[in-house]
Amino acid sequence: MKYAEKILNTPSSFTRDILKVAGQEDVISFAGGLPNPISFPVEDLQNAINHAIEVHGPKLFQYSATEGYLPLRQYVADKLNKGQEGLDIQPEDILITTGSQQALEMISQVMIDKGDGIVMEEPGYLGAIQAFHLTEPTFHPVTLTDEGLNVAELENMLKNNQNIKFIYTVPNFHNPTGITYTKENRDAIYDVVKNYDVILIEDDPYGDLRWNGEKIPYIGAGRLENSVVLGSFSKIVTPGMRLGYIVTKNKELLNHVITAKQAADLHTNIFSQIVIHEYLAKNDLEAHVSKIIALYESQANAMLEAMAKYFPSSVKFTKPDGGMFIWVTLEEGVSSLDLFYKAMEEKVAFVPGDPFYTSKTNVNTFRLNYTNSSPEVIEEGIKRLGKLLHEVSTT
Ligand code: PMP
Repeated sequence: MKYAEKILNTPSSFTRDILKVAGQEDVISFAGGLPNPISFPVEDLQNAINHAIEVHGPKLFQYSATEGYLPLRQYVADKLNKGQEGLDIQPEDILITTGSQQALEMISQVMIDKGDGIVMEEPGYLGAIQAFHLTEPTFHPVTLTDEGLNVAELENMLKNNQNIKFIYTVPNFHNPTGITYTKENRDAIYDVVKNYDVILIEDDPYGDLRWNGEKIPYIGAGRLENSVVLGSFSKIVTPGMRLGYIVTKNKELLNHVITAKQAADLHTNIFSQIVIHEYLAKNDLEAHVSKIIALYESQANAMLEAMAKYFPSSVKFTKPDGGMFIWVTLEEGVSSLDLFYKAMEEKVAFVPGDPFYTSKTNVNTFRLNYTNSSPEVIEEGIKRLGKLLHEVSTT
C-alpha cells in the first residue's frame, strides 16, 4: 500500500512512544505531560453529570452546534475578560474544540498549503509540531530564550520569508521549557508582528497554574488584529473530556475553522460540554485551581531542590513560575538521547530534547515533568539521574 507523503513525513508522538516504556510499574517517570489525577474533581463531576442529565435529558445525547454550547462559550468569554483588563471577548469570538490539540490541527489545515511557512519556537511543543506536519509546512525555527522569543531572529524570519502564515507560541509556563515570556519580550514581539500579515497564536493551556509572580497580559489578544488565543480545560479540570477553545476576533478565520471542524467531527462532544458547564456553574473554579497550584508548586520545589543537590554544577535548568515542566541543558556535546537509554537502565525516564526541535537532532537538552510523582519519589529519581550526570560530565 502506498500511503500519503504527509503521513509518512509526520513523526509519531515521541512522548507517547516513550510512555509505553516509561509506564512500567518500577520506572520513576518524569516523561509524561499528564496532570496529576488526584487533581480531578471526580465527585463534583459526578454531581454535574447527574444534574446535567436531570435538567437537559436527551439534549445531552443529541447532535449540536459546531461552534459549541453557548453557555460554555459565554463562560469562557467572561473568564478571559475577567483575567485581563481591556479585553472584550464575546461568545461569538469563541469556538469550542476537541481539546486545544484539535485547534492546532484545524488552524494548520485552514492556513497552510504545502510549503507555506510556520514560525515555531525552538524548542517548541511537540504535539504542535506533529499537528502542523500533517499539512506539509516549512518550519521556520526561532530560538527561545529565558525571556521568550529571540525578537531579532523573529523579525529576520518574517522579513525574509513572505510565505509565513502564522507564528506559534506558548507564552506561559512553556511546554517543554517551563519559561514564561516577559512583559518586555511580549511588547517587542507585538511591535514586530503588527507590521506583518501573519496570525499570532498564543497557546495557553497552563496560564492559570501560576504560583510565583504576577499574571502578564497576552502578546496579541486585545490589540492585534490577527490574534488567536487557544485555551483548554485539560490542565485545570480534566483532559479526558477533551475540551478546548479558540478565541479570535478575526471572523473570516473563525468561519474557515468552523468549516474545517464540520469536516473533522461536526461538533465537540456535547455531553462533555454541558457537564463541564454544570460543573463550572456550581463550583468555584478558582478555589479548585488554587489546590492544583499548591500541589504542583510543592512538586516543582522538590524537584528543583533535588536538582540543586544532586546535579553537577555544569548542568543548567529552568525554574518555572508555574505549569508542569523543567528544562535541562547539559554540557555542549552531551547527547540527552544517550543519557535517556542509560537512565532507563536505572529505571528513571524523561523526554530527550530531540522531538521538540524542527531543525536539530542529537541535542543536549531534555524535559522533566514533576506533576506525577510524590516529593519522595522525585528526590529518588533525581538522585539516580544526578549519579548518571556525574558520570557523563567532563568537568
Ligand atoms: N498545547 C500545549 C502547549 C500542550 O502542552 C498541550 C497538552 N500537552 C496541548 C496544547 C493540548 O492540550 P488539550 O488538547 O488537552 O487541550
